[in-house]
Amino acid sequence: MASDRVQRIKSRRPNGTFGSRTDVGCVRDHNEDSLLVAPPLFAVADGMGGHAAGEVASEIAITVLGEKAPHTPDAAALGRAVEDANRAVILAANEKRGRAGMGTTITAAVLQKDRLVIAQVGDSRAYLLHQGRLQQLTRDHSLMADMIEAGRLTPEEARTHPNRSVITRALGSDPRMVPDLYEITVETGDRLLLCSDGLSSMVEDSAIESTLARTRDPQRCASMLVNEAIAAGGYDNVTVVVVDVAGQIDKVTRRYKRRSRLFMSFVILLLLAILGAAGFGVYAYIDASAYLIAENGTVSIYRGVPDELFGQPLSRLDHATDISVDDLQPGVASRLQTGIRVDGLEAANRLVDEYRAYIEQSAASETPEANRDDAGTANSSSSAATSSSEEQNDRAGGDVS
Ligand code: CA
Repeated sequence: MASDRVQRIKSRRPNGTFGSRTDVGCVRDHNEDSLLVAPPLFAVADGMGGHAAGEVASEIAITVLGEKAPHTPDAAALGRAVEDANRAVILAANEKRGRAGMGTTITAAVLQKDRLVIAQVGDSRAYLLHQGRLQQLTRDHSLMADMIEAGRLTPEEARTHPNRSVITRALGSDPRMVPDLYEITVETGDRLLLCSDGLSSMVEDSAIESTLARTRDPQRCASMLVNEAIAAGGYDNVTVVVVDVAGQIDKVTRRYKRRSRLFMSFVILLLLAILGAAGFGVYAYIDASAYLIAENGTVSIYRGVPDELFGQPLSRLDHATDISVDDLQPGVASRLQTGIRVDGLEAANRLVDEYRAYIEQSAASETPEANRDDAGTANSSSSAATSSSEEQNDRAGGDVS
């Protein structure tokens, strides 16, 4: 039975992208409509031919369509699937499944991203709600449509005309039947409606538009449209499929984009934290370092290191001494031209004290009296100062390279 199939199909419905409902209505004792909801394929079929015939025809058509329809918006391939369905209904009648003369309409749609293709036979309709306005996408193959187009009838008159159910094209009679094909570009936020004439003949387009526009959830929307047809009398079986354009794909994309943004924010914060920590470490290292360098012939002490980063010096002058570079040992003087690095200001000041002591003792050793009176002490002290300076300089020289 169609209702079993409908329930099975409904159970695969993901949240919030489409909805469907079929109902026998208030007058008929069985439902000849069938529907198919198998994204990206959606279809409605309205069978005719009396009990145990109309529903057989519509269900065969829907089953064959489901097997043969393309998985992409290929209008020609969808048309061929409908032609296959037509031949299957004719064959079934010939094999006494259902009844001779049974038939069905079909309105089939394949919707993928912004591309919608439709194959249509009969008077089941496809509508599009675009920016709140309802557009009928398909043209009915019906006597009423022909008469309205010929100017012999108004749509209002057609609604109550005794021949309003006469259709001019259907599946199940002519093996050469071809469906009308439509290719439409749609936008996110558009809403597709497929329905049997049990809706469109009972509910005005303006009321359908209003319900489609104001009912956010597509399943609830489908259910409300069926209720409106029943409230209007429910003279026919009524079947509705509502599909939100690009709903599921867009939701997945949006979710992915949200996650990507969160991840990127986290990565940026992490990088900033690492850079901050590295910057603090570099600053702490630089601040704890010092060096001595020859400037204008004297020795100056700098806090930091004698380097640059992005053109910016990594040091600042602590103070200049009165120690003349020319008074120091030639090796020391030479190293002072490029800077002698030490472990902080304290070490730098100790080295300056040693230089000063060296200079004083050198001067004393050049004085004959001092040479004579304090030779042993001066020499030993001098050599101690020199030894100490060189020791420091050797370590500092290693640092510079
Ligand atoms: Ca009908």
